[in-house]
Amino acid sequence: MSITRYLLASDLDGTLIPLERDAQRLREVAELVDAFEASEELMLAYVTGRHLSLAQEGIEEIGLPSPDWFVCDVGTSVYRRTGGGYEPDPEYRQAMRALFGGLAGDEVRAAIGAMDGLELQEEEKQAEFKVSYYTRGRPEPFVETVQARLDAAHARVNLVVSHDPVSGRGLLDVLPASVAKDYAVRYLHDCSGVDEEHLVYAGDSGNDRAAMLTGYRVIVVGNADEALKKDLGIESVAQGIAERIYFAEQHYARGVLEGLRHFGALP
Ligand SMILES: [Mg+2]
Repeated sequence: MSITRYLLASDLDGTLIPLERDAQRLREVAELVDAFEASEELMLAYVTGRHLSLAQEGIEEIGLPSPDWFVCDVGTSVYRRTGGGYEPDPEYRQAMRALFGGLAGDEVRAAIGAMDGLELQEEEKQAEFKVSYYTRGRPEPFVETVQARLDAAHARVNLVVSHDPVSGRGLLDVLPASVAKDYAVRYLHDCSGVDEEHLVYAGDSGNDRAAMLTGYRVIVVGNADEALKKDLGIESVAQGIAERIYFAEQHYARGVLEGLRHFGALP
């Protein structure tokens, strides 16, 4: 009898990693881990904005198992499990460089150069194919100049801006053109070899949206943003994929477990 293999590709913060760290939440994580361990068929990938070392720290802290893949830095890096640890996937790096217009992050950084009010984020927030800045005030006024300098260097990018209302600072991420979590999830689909209907993506917030509308099976955990739930409800009907999206009642790890059972990935 052949076994049906599933891949769970899941966001970490707010999905598998609860935002509240109380004993009850940790027990729920342990419950999910037990279910993972009882299954031979389920492969695991964590898809996160975090850098690899911080992602590893995060899963160790709450006792999540080591995955088959880590997708880090908002989808710009993929690490495969090797004997003892994780190695950057060489094919994925090549793809990122090509999408960046043939450049790596340090070259993109050099092309942008110095600008009043634009400051590089801490080193642990930088990645080979992701350059992250803080801006003084809102980030939008910086975009045109940054884009012009990148165009001059023939870089191809996806500029992602956000604004932190608490600090008043802006955030500007420079990613390879068209790359975000959804790009990486498609790549995982290819290298895992699972059928499309056996890839389950779980998430909770706006940066999971594109990956949730790619056509895979999707778990929206119960604690997800209300605006995201509403938007996914409308968009999935418009795209004819409503039955592929499961809105879990339970929060965090419990919601993921509920969804995996719904899709038949776990008994
Ligand atoms: Mg999240």
